Amino acid sequence: MQALREVLIWLKRELEDIDPDSAYLETELLISYVLNKDRSFIYTVDFIEEEKIKEIKKLLDLRKKGIPINYILKKKFFYDYEFFTDTGVLIPRNETELLLDVVIDTIKSYSFEKIVDIGVGSGNLAVTLAKKVDKLTIYACDISPNALKIAKINAQKHGVIDRIKFFLGPYLYPITMRNLQFDLIISNPPYIASWEMPFLQKEVKREPWEALYGGWNGCVFYEDIFKELKKMDKGIFIFEISPFIYNDLVKLINKTFSKIEFYVYKDLSQKNRVIKLIW
Ligand code: GLN
Repeated sequence: MQALREVLIWLKRELEDIDPDSAYLETELLISYVLNKDRSFIYTVDFIEEEKIKEIKKLLDLRKKGIPINYILKKKFFYDYEFFTDTGVLIPRNETELLLDVVIDTIKSYSFEKIVDIGVGSGNLAVTLAKKVDKLTIYACDISPNALKIAKINAQKHGVIDRIKFFLGPYLYPITMRNLQFDLIISNPPYIASWEMPFLQKEVKREPWEALYGGWNGCVFYEDIFKELKKMDKGIFIFEISPFIYNDLVKLINKTFSKIEFYVYKDLSQKNRVIKLIW
């Protein structure tokens, strides 16, 4: 037995060496994970068993090796729900909640019923949408079988598996080849440019490369999908971007489409983060 307070102080110091900004939060998360209790509960505990301390040390070793905390805890809270996360899917990011806000507003104002999510990953967008908007059907596509497996686990966990159809394949192809009709396309695609890749945090490098890497200029996904969209008479596409590629993307959009409605949304740090195209 050891005083929990001492373990908290020790663990926080260890985690500070890895990332000072998240050390406090990660200390609480790891301890509550090992105790299998809510974060708020840990301050009501005085002592912690040796067995549990051993477990904490094991998890700390994984963190020191650069494994992201959300792969260790196997969960990440996104929007209003907790998602199972594991190697093989992108960990949902807080910035992506903006994309969801814009999508929900759009769906409600047009009364849309069928949505395509390109690159479903953990299912954070598809599952949250199914939870938040009644009568919605979501076609969820991904090029990674592993991601589809995890997205299905999350759809099951949140009771919306019957409202989401899963497809393996790139871009819109799984949908268009089956002649499925839809009202709206959404995506948080890979958009990290080549030059950014070496600067990514050690933890981010543990996430699937194909969920992050957007080609030499970060715009390759957009270039390809815009070509497909141009062939459709009309549609709406809402997607996340990296603020770094905003200017290049605006040029690309102007070059690709002769007539288009264009809206840009800023995230909490006032960076261009989401674009809505209507053509
Ligand atoms: N849709 C998932 C997310 O927003 C995964 C995106 C991806 O794999 N690029 O986090």
